[in-house]
Amino acid sequence: MTDGTTDGLNKAAVFICHCSGNISEHVDINIVKKTLKAEGFSVYDYEYLCSSQGQALIKKKISEGHVDRVVIGSCTPSKHGTLFKKCIQETGLNRAGLEIANLREQCAWVHPDRAGATEKALSLLKAKLKRLENIEPLEDIKVDIAQQVLVIGGGIAGITAALNLADNGVPTFLVEKDSSIGGQMAKIGKIFSPDKLAEECAMCSLSPLMNEVAAHPRITLLTWTEVEKLSGSAGNFTVKLKKKPRYVKDNCIACGKCSRVCPVSVEDEFNCGYMDKKAISLRFSQSVPKVYFIDPDSCLQLKGENCGKCAEACKTGAIDFSQKEEIIELNVGAVVVATGFEEYDVSQKPQYGYGIFENVLTQMELARVLGINGPTKGELLRISDFSKASSDPAPSTCDSRCESSSDHPFEVETPERIVMIQCVGSRDEKEGGNRYCSRYCCMAALKHASLIKKRYPKTEITICYIDMRAFGFYENYYRAVQETGVNFVRGRPAEVIEKPDKSLVVRVEDTLSQKIKEIPADMVVLSAAMVPSPGTKKIASVLNLSQDESGFIKERHSKLKPVDCSLDGIFVCGTAQSPKDVTCLLYTSDAADE
Ligand code: SF4
Ligand code: SF4
Repeated sequence: MTDGTTDGLNKAAVFICHCSGNISEHVDINIVKKTLKAEGFSVYDYEYLCSSQGQALIKKKISEGHVDRVVIGSCTPSKHGTLFKKCIQETGLNRAGLEIANLREQCAWVHPDRAGATEKALSLLKAKLKRLENIEPLEDIKVDIAQQVLVIGGGIAGITAALNLADNGVPTFLVEKDSSIGGQMAKIGKIFSPDKLAEECAMCSLSPLMNEVAAHPRITLLTWTEVEKLSGSAGNFTVKLKKKPRYVKDNCIACGKCSRVCPVSVEDEFNCGYMDKKAISLRFSQSVPKVYFIDPDSCLQLKGENCGKCAEACKTGAIDFSQKEEIIELNVGAVVVATGFEEYDVSQKPQYGYGIFENVLTQMELARVLGINGPTKGELLRISDFSKASSDPAPSTCDSRCESSSDHPFEVETPERIVMIQCVGSRDEKEGGNRYCSRYCCMAALKHASLIKKRYPKTEITICYIDMRAFGFYENYYRAVQETGVNFVRGRPAEVIEKPDKSLVVRVEDTLSQKIKEIPADMVVLSAAMVPSPGTKKIASVLNLSQDESGFIKERHSKLKPVDCSLDGIFVCGTAQSPKDVTCLLYTSDAADE
């Protein structure tokens, strides 16, 4: 069928790949060949059809003039479909003359019974032959593609992807649902450095990148904006965005005068609810864009009461209560999804008392407690020992943030005993748990243990672990933390008990000494699993992307197409795809914009 006009299957051939035993160990290829040959088809098999020798076999049979339609029985077409299409097109055959039967994922790997797998392989191949009976040649058409890209999610993964795209000349829209970019990394305070065996300021790495995004001539930053709908196909997507009103115009100079006079306090999500902020606020002091926003659910004026104190205090006239929601439509050629993660809801493990005992917290919450711009200005305190304080982030500067303060703002004792519990919700087959390892939490626990030991050497820290997972050079950091005197107990604690003075006891079987231990603690820190953020779940549904069983967005092939989503033209990076630490997620951001 070199011109695509010949009907019928008299010159159809079937090529079956053994896939190095992946197919041939489950499917009896001899029976398949014999059966199809008996029906008059030419049938060939080869160890690896995707190899150059395998492709040469296909080309040879077509070039000899005996074959004008081809069925290939191999792995999924999403893996080598393009390669086989190219292979037959190089012989002059139209690509309409190719069908691929998935004998691996849809047959060999799912049917342990050899006879059943062989029967199914035959059915799949015959069905593909049937499809080739009457075919029309397919023509290549040229379409204009939109030369701009949408990146969804303004955490470190999305920021890196957007900057790389823009630096390579691609006009890029970066959409963030929050009022500022920065994501979870803005909250974590410090990042560990396995080569320097030290902890560095996360904001000092993140903040310059955030500012670069805001200043980049090829990046359009849309914060307070969510993706509502996507239509079209690779090269030509139409995206509908909903931009919420900030009620503050871009001429805001972030002086904070409005916030100081605002009479309404609300829980500060950025600080995990440990402190309050005002109804008009910045998400955090280094927010980008550095423009205040009003929470419409809390603002008196926007709820119909008379207030307007912020507007009176604002000397630049930036307050604008008349702002309305905007719908924005974009035409983009590709989409990068970087919608990130959230911490597992550790209250699903009631034996640890989270949400019941005040001094049980998560690693992310501990990061805020230790953050110099956090509720205790970096001072380590039991949660039961600090009361909520109003925050006005505007006066804070990078320098003041990074300085280690020795002034103790509270007249209470520093916690002397901290127990960290690893794998809460990770590597957990029980109800509500996740089977996977979250990859970041062993290192997060080590980082916090190291930070606390350096600042409070007398504080005793015990990490209860199943296995400490410190891969590659992270092992050096693990060893360095061990040398600071942190205790390690191998075992998953059974429960946490609270005493009347709010101190805690962790009951655990030390599986090395095979002894039950009761470890007293002033604070218990749970290393919560990493789970897909609500934004990741929403975007997977809006864009109709495949997800894995835990809700992370699935790549097309973990080795060959590690950042391609199930739909052409859509890519995924960072923790929207799977649990990762900062270093690993940056690799995927780089890959997604290539
Ligand atoms: S007073 Fe006006 S300029 Fe100052 S932070 Fe508030 S809105 Fe911005
Ligand atoms: S109008 Fe709203 S945001 Fe402004 S001061 Fe009053 S309550 Fe606060």
